[in-house]
Amino acid sequence: MPSAPARSVRRRRTPTAPELIFGNLWEFDPSPETADPKLKAQYDLLIDGRFVPARRGARFTSINPANEKALAEVALADESDVADAYAAAARAFPRWSRLPGSERGKYLFRLARLLQDRAREFAVAETLDGGKPIRESRDFDVPMAAAHFFYHAGWADKLTYAFPGARHVQPLGVVGQIIPWNFPLLMLAWKLAPALATGNTVVLKPAETTSLTALKFAEILQEAELPPGVVNIVTGAGATGAAVVAHPQAAKIAFTGSTEVGRHIMRATAGTGKRLTLELGGKAANILFDDAPLDQAIEGVINGIFFNQGHVCCAGSRLLVQEGIADEVVARLTLRLRSLRVGDPLDKNTDVGAINSGEQLARIKRLVAAGVREGATLYQPPCALPRKGFYFPPTLFTGVQQSHRIAREEVFGPVLSILTFRTVDEAIEKANNTAYGLSAGVWTDKGSRILKLSTELKAGVVWANTYNKFDPASPFGGYKESGFGREGGRHGLADYVTLS
Ligand code: NDP
Repeated sequence: MPSAPARSVRRRRTPTAPELIFGNLWEFDPSPETADPKLKAQYDLLIDGRFVPARRGARFTSINPANEKALAEVALADESDVADAYAAAARAFPRWSRLPGSERGKYLFRLARLLQDRAREFAVAETLDGGKPIRESRDFDVPMAAAHFFYHAGWADKLTYAFPGARHVQPLGVVGQIIPWNFPLLMLAWKLAPALATGNTVVLKPAETTSLTALKFAEILQEAELPPGVVNIVTGAGATGAAVVAHPQAAKIAFTGSTEVGRHIMRATAGTGKRLTLELGGKAANILFDDAPLDQAIEGVINGIFFNQGHVCCAGSRLLVQEGIADEVVARLTLRLRSLRVGDPLDKNTDVGAINSGEQLARIKRLVAAGVREGATLYQPPCALPRKGFYFPPTLFTGVQQSHRIAREEVFGPVLSILTFRTVDEAIEKANNTAYGLSAGVWTDKGSRILKLSTELKAGVVWANTYNKFDPASPFGGYKESGFGREGGRHGLADYVTLS
């Protein structure tokens, strides 16, 4: 019998479409968002429903990463302040946990609506404090934060339906929550909404560089007349976070941040009986097959890595592209990069804003230098970066090997590493060849291939023909060094209750 012909690698022609380079044809006028963020010069801790200074009176300065100007002075909590916060949360717990779910739900609905009322103000504050483009804080962070409160408000009086077979659904007690700087308000919502809906009380620590929207949210908690002590907010740096983790009153610690700090927290909580959920780093593979709808895929790849300057735990930072279309994909991405607008995050035309801190910028530069040293080829479009503030141009690396640091470590910046593959199995093997397992993307015309990959990719979330899609009803979380536990949906609620 004649042997079957070897499967040919399908090649696409190089693009004939005109280049999308507009030069200075459309010079956009600046379009700054002008709403007043209503920031105060000084912020205190929220403990027992009141704003109080830190016991020792210490403060730190929160700056705007887009221009390095000071925004506000913020109280720096130490162990004694954290102890006050836990004591207040413990006092509030019996009444809050016994409140009928429908009553707790009313508070959550109220928080969601108050946030919506002040959405524009919060969007500007988030952009000033963190450096993300106003388009993203306005259209994604703030509406999604409100959506999480709405969603969990709906569950508060239906908890037994969330867990079929359970007769009693009990809260855990006081929970300590630590959030990062990449989505400050949204991560606050991911943490607070399920904890409150299930009847827990909370001590929450925002990240040092981005505390302001949490402190503005404290004003909303007061406006909603949430009972004192149900939510306490302690600001500070790593030492404050460590005190939140170490406090004996914590029934559970919920953490989002780096894998390194996640490891510290695992050690600190081991043997204490505290429940723990960790949402850590990622090094997602965005896998592009040669039958994918390329126009959409290119936009998906761009969104996957440049959204929020790449400060995204689930960022599609490794592009795996099928060999036959690699040249075309790189050509298209290169062109698309040249049309991204980098600059003032408050400008409504900006696509890529400021890097969150000088420290993070230095880390991105170190890893990019390692990429060049290790032999990958760097491409950055010509773009003038503002002289003041922390900025980094959108960056592509081709010729990346799996052993390169830029293919293994979380850069957490606007840097895409491009690798190639030939077969489905090779794509799966390369995608899974990472210590992380938070997310992945698949771009293909074939449904059967999507089903196969969504089963075989070791990632908590697999997006198909899209990327970075979120919904409060959909659980989010990782495998391996990306952590454990889920946030969102019924799975997220389960991490805040005991069932009997
Ligand atoms: P961290 O993990 O240090 O920060 C996350 C939160 O943990 C912050 O609130 C931080 O406080 C707090 N924290 C720091 N040390 C401790 C501790 N020992 N115990 C308890 N809490 C602590 O991230 P970084 O801000 O330092 O960023 C470093 C790298 O981590 C980034 O370059 C990025 O790669 C990764 N990262 C990943 C995130 C993700 O969602 N996957 C989110 C943020 C960072 P504070 O910031 O005030 O010091």
